[in-house]
Amino acid sequence: MALPRVVAVAPGSPADRAGVLPGDEIVALDGQLPRDIIEYQLLADQESLGLEVSRGGIELTLQIERQGGEPLGMEVDAALFDRVRTCDNHCEFCFIHQLPKGMRKSLYVRDDDYRLSFLYGNFTTLTRFTEADLERVLTEGLSPLFVSIHATDPEVRSRMLRNRRGASSLRWLRALLDGGVEVHGQVVVCPGVNDGDILEGTLAGVLDEYPELASVACVPLGVSRFNREQAMRPHSQAEAATVVDLVEEWQETYEACVGRRLVYAADEYYLLAGRPFPALETYGAVAQHDNGVGMARAFEAAFLGRDSEDGPVPAGPSGFFRSIEGAPALGYRAPRAGGVVALVPRRGAGTTVVTGEYGARVLAPLLAGLPGDLELLTVRNEFFGGNIAVAGLITGSDLSAALAGSPEDRRYLIPDSCLSGGRFLDGVAVGDLPRPVEVVPADGASLRRALEAAQDLAGVR
Ligand code: SF4
Repeated sequence: MALPRVVAVAPGSPADRAGVLPGDEIVALDGQLPRDIIEYQLLADQESLGLEVSRGGIELTLQIERQGGEPLGMEVDAALFDRVRTCDNHCEFCFIHQLPKGMRKSLYVRDDDYRLSFLYGNFTTLTRFTEADLERVLTEGLSPLFVSIHATDPEVRSRMLRNRRGASSLRWLRALLDGGVEVHGQVVVCPGVNDGDILEGTLAGVLDEYPELASVACVPLGVSRFNREQAMRPHSQAEAATVVDLVEEWQETYEACVGRRLVYAADEYYLLAGRPFPALETYGAVAQHDNGVGMARAFEAAFLGRDSEDGPVPAGPSGFFRSIEGAPALGYRAPRAGGVVALVPRRGAGTTVVTGEYGARVLAPLLAGLPGDLELLTVRNEFFGGNIAVAGLITGSDLSAALAGSPEDRRYLIPDSCLSGGRFLDGVAVGDLPRPVEVVPADGASLRRALEAAQDLAGVR
């Protein structure tokens, strides 16, 4: 088990006052070495607390005193200090199996760990879930959790996961719901495998067996050019339209039976089908925003300065980078400054907003008609190929090629969702790009602010 290492200490915080320094390794907290950030938080939840650290090989005992529930004020380097629980499935549609060789190791970790589900919203199939896990989830109140359903028919589910435990592991979903845990589900829809009648049966099965689910997202599988599974292919436009129609029919049924829509189709389906997105209000709390459900409408509302009836929608990290680097989830970190982009003064320069093919279809109508010299640069995903078109999977090599053919004297804004630690998925660093770029948080309000700042600096507002 690795020792948690302190990576940030908030000035003036209880940890700072006790003398904790970045680089310290935690040997014990209140006499125990926590297994993960959740246990760490529980152990740390007291006014006076002993902390043993190793600093340069020397062990020190520090005493932390907190007043009136102030946060501890230190951040550690990982969310799990023991081993991440990896999955025992072999899904045909698994995107990790479709990555090229040679990317950084953390990208190939196939986690199936309920703790990462709680911390980051990663989906778990529950095939490795145990009675002890259930007890921990219930006693520590680890809610909400995110569960991959794919099909409620046991035979279809075990075939899709290529794991006979897939047939029975949804019994844990029932147990979680019985224990009052909020659970969000997803169905990765693979054409010819679990769409059509099987999807209809799954939506009926959810109503019959798991109606307490907080939401269920139907998302299309991603197919990269490295896919080796013959049966896996992108949806046609007609197949995407069929999924949208089916989901919308079932929304009415759920509304009538359980008083809420419950099931949603991912934004990608509306783009594929060439249909307008439903109104933001129809997504409720936009609970599966990070799964690409209601994201376009939420972005639009934030860009235009409107929030949904349920208040501001989430604008946190999403997609493939969400947990792969293992840093603690938001809420478990020491407070940091962030979210503000300081643009480099450049008078007269036009602004180019960089995005992926799907993002361009959402952004184009929002940017049209705004004052100033404003352009969109759409980066086609040649690295992954296939049907991969989301901004979060833009790689440095594709962006470099797009920028190299673009004018030098413009300001380029890129979304932060395609970066982790300043690097793209293919390891290219921001500083390696052929043009300077400015990184903007991938939410509508941040882009709006960045565009206004760019217009001010260019003298067009
Ligand atoms: S459960 Fe997830 S990580 Fe595991 S094989 Fe299936 S898609 Fe891949």
